[in-house]
Amino acid sequence: MHVAMIGSGYVGLVSGACFADFGHTVTCVDKDASKIEALNRGEIPIYEPGLDVLVNGNRFAGRLSFTTDFVTAVKDADAVFIAVGTPTRRGDGHADLSYVYAAAEEIAAAMTGYTVIVTKSTVPVGTADEVEAIIKRTAPGADFSVASNPEFLREGAAIDDFKRPDRVVVGVEDERAQELMRALYRPLNLNETPILFTNRRTAELTKYAANAFLAAKITFINEMADICEKTGANVQDVARGIGLDRRIGSKFLHAGPGYGGSCFPKDTLALVRTAQQFNTPTRIIEAVVEVNAARKRRMVEKIEAACDGSVKGKTIAVLGLTFKPETDDMRDAPSLDIVPGLIERGATVQAHDPQGVKEAKHMLPDSVIYCDTPYDAAKDANAVVIITEWNEYRALDIAELSSTMKEKVMVDLRNIYRPEDMENAGFSYTGVGR
Ligand code: NAD
Repeated sequence: MHVAMIGSGYVGLVSGACFADFGHTVTCVDKDASKIEALNRGEIPIYEPGLDVLVNGNRFAGRLSFTTDFVTAVKDADAVFIAVGTPTRRGDGHADLSYVYAAAEEIAAAMTGYTVIVTKSTVPVGTADEVEAIIKRTAPGADFSVASNPEFLREGAAIDDFKRPDRVVVGVEDERAQELMRALYRPLNLNETPILFTNRRTAELTKYAANAFLAAKITFINEMADICEKTGANVQDVARGIGLDRRIGSKFLHAGPGYGGSCFPKDTLALVRTAQQFNTPTRIIEAVVEVNAARKRRMVEKIEAACDGSVKGKTIAVLGLTFKPETDDMRDAPSLDIVPGLIERGATVQAHDPQGVKEAKHMLPDSVIYCDTPYDAAKDANAVVIITEWNEYRALDIAELSSTMKEKVMVDLRNIYRPEDMENAGFSYTGVGR
């Protein structure tokens, strides 16, 4: 089958490369010419494990190509996926759909023959209806269907998530689109992936419901961590104690500095706004949004408390800037609240991140000093703060780390280390909920 992927960001690039790897012929489009030029040179604009091999292997095999030209990509395509960004709209928290609608117009102008246009971006209920209306308006008489196929991949494990998903959700309003989507995902039959066909509005809402539920689960355990800190209980044991109950499950029960990333913050907010718009406010999700935002800001106070009440004039080593490991994505990362907060209170920040520094430089204050290793970051520091649980921070040589520190203070916002081990190493140690 011929597939066009509009938007070659995280989702478009990974989905396009995986569809090509399934044997489809895929053309990825992006309006960012520098991104397309880089991809055509074999360079991958994002850090995602395994993506370079997958992209370039399929490029050389002739199944995957990149262009800025809609007509080249769309004219012969059986399915055209819209995988452009849907960021928070400035000022009101709704999802900004301008990129989706612009793509719909361009697709309408370029498509020929029966085409299924598929919204893969995370979009509020009713967006596929609007995409259909735009195409009808722009290309009256065109032969097409619109489907919704939200993406559930996680950054850092994106290829595996796409190729071995827990499920695929497809919203359709007609048989023809359903058959085409079934054929497109047929390669997943081998691992018996459930493909759930629903109506379009259900598919759209399912994506938000999934992200809101996971965000609520994280926020729940974070609040339990706060109670643990006040009462002497241990949140890791609480998480294990509830997570072994199969009705609850152990995933997404790691207490930390609050969720971030390119999806949960904007999607929870957008769901709140959709619910308000339909006069059915979701008070749980409203609370999740507020509690999480306040938590990220409060982490600075936690660090201050660990530093005898003030970071003024002190040097803080920050390990990990990205919102999670195995990605260079900095969008809504907790570090974006914590690092500027520390600097505002008079600290000097020496930071290390294995992949995120390039992005971080655009998003953090200029005064941040970026270091090549965690050990360099810790040099002359009064405290080391772990914000992201990169693998390389899991087995740091603590003796080496502390040998050049001014004071042995660690704030471990991911509970990587055991308090007793750190205390034995002479550290004043603060974790989360322990
Ligand atoms: P991204 O910002 O990484 O990529 C979007 C790309 O679309 C950019 O390269 C941009 O230049 C391009 N683009 C915008 N308008 C265009 C147009 N008219 N024509 C061609 N290209 C255009 O975004 P992303 O992280 O890939 O997210 C895309 C969508 O997928 C969002 O709705 C997001 O919520 C959803 N999603 C993201 C993830 C994730 O982990 N990143 C997971 C699941 C779903």
